[in-house]
Amino acid sequence: MTLTKKTDDILGAVLARNRITADDAIILFENASLHQLGSAADHLRKQIHPDGKVTFVIDRNINYTNVCSNRCGFCAFYRNIDSPDAYLLDTSEVLKKVAEAVSSGGTQIMLQGGLHPDVTIEYYIQIFKAIKKEYDVVIHSLTPPEIIHIAKQSNLTVKETLSKLTSAGFDSLPGGGAEILSDSIRTKISPLKITAGEWLGVMNSAHQLGIYSTATMMFGIGEEIAERIEHLDRIRTLQDDTGKFRAFIPWTFQPGRTDIGGDEAPAEDYLKLLALSRIYLDNITNIQGSWLTQGAAIGQMSLFFGANDLGSTMLEENVVRSTGVHHKMNVEKIVTLIKQCGLTPAQRDTEYRVLKEF
Ligand code: SF4
Repeated sequence: MTLTKKTDDILGAVLARNRITADDAIILFENASLHQLGSAADHLRKQIHPDGKVTFVIDRNINYTNVCSNRCGFCAFYRNIDSPDAYLLDTSEVLKKVAEAVSSGGTQIMLQGGLHPDVTIEYYIQIFKAIKKEYDVVIHSLTPPEIIHIAKQSNLTVKETLSKLTSAGFDSLPGGGAEILSDSIRTKISPLKITAGEWLGVMNSAHQLGIYSTATMMFGIGEEIAERIEHLDRIRTLQDDTGKFRAFIPWTFQPGRTDIGGDEAPAEDYLKLLALSRIYLDNITNIQGSWLTQGAAIGQMSLFFGANDLGSTMLEENVVRSTGVHHKMNVEKIVTLIKQCGLTPAQRDTEYRVLKEF
């Protein structure tokens, strides 16, 4: 069997909605053309989302602290606690930002920050309760590294931490901090960060408690193709067990102002990985394109490479911005981008229910 034949065979299986193996995915990544991968992923997107809707959410990222003890080599956002521009927002500062988000039509708050050595679970409980007392918004917040940090700071288990946060108003868990779920690369780029197994363990615990989440991937940081596919495989395996990942969101490492530096993965790599996400993750309904890291034009192309969602309009975002990347979006612009693609823009909530069509 020639390599070309093998690629065609695998793509045939994909179009027939048969599950492919990790080895198949590596063959596709290395040998299938951009057009072949895009066509297959677009075919699947149309089958899974036949209404042609492309969704987005209006939300605000609130980065409550930039102090972080993990000091990841790919992060331009963190500061040491004695840095002159280190900060930790208090409840009233967070509430002010939530008020601005709600008045701009925001339905979701993404509160995320560094691993601050002085905060315990009480800090989050106070903020979450205060938000829920005043506003009707979903708290889609924190990440697995933050959950483990809070648990350690507060002498709690991960499940106890998640339960207490949920009682205070926490609703769902974004998948940040996954980067590449392969410890060989994690130990090189962020040796102090939680392991791949710990990230998956937090997600599993959340899912067992009935908390839904999303899964992410940051790639283009020196990993092998096999490690990218290992990441997809670990997500697919957990999703087979729990079914509580609502979406998968891949993006590229932004090297600006980071210790690791280097070049960003090319757009071709991004689109191939996005298409393979749609193809490989046959048990995750929503695949998100990233205008934030890729810009508007590649964001539009993502809609023909398997994506059915463009994430958030992001009323505030600081982490990618800290690398020097400044792509901006608002409702009018995102609606126009989607319409230009011949698709139907729709505002959604955290659960991917459509709130408004445009
Ligand atoms: S990526 Fe997150 S955990 Fe790593 S240094 Fe930045 S804020 Fe800290």
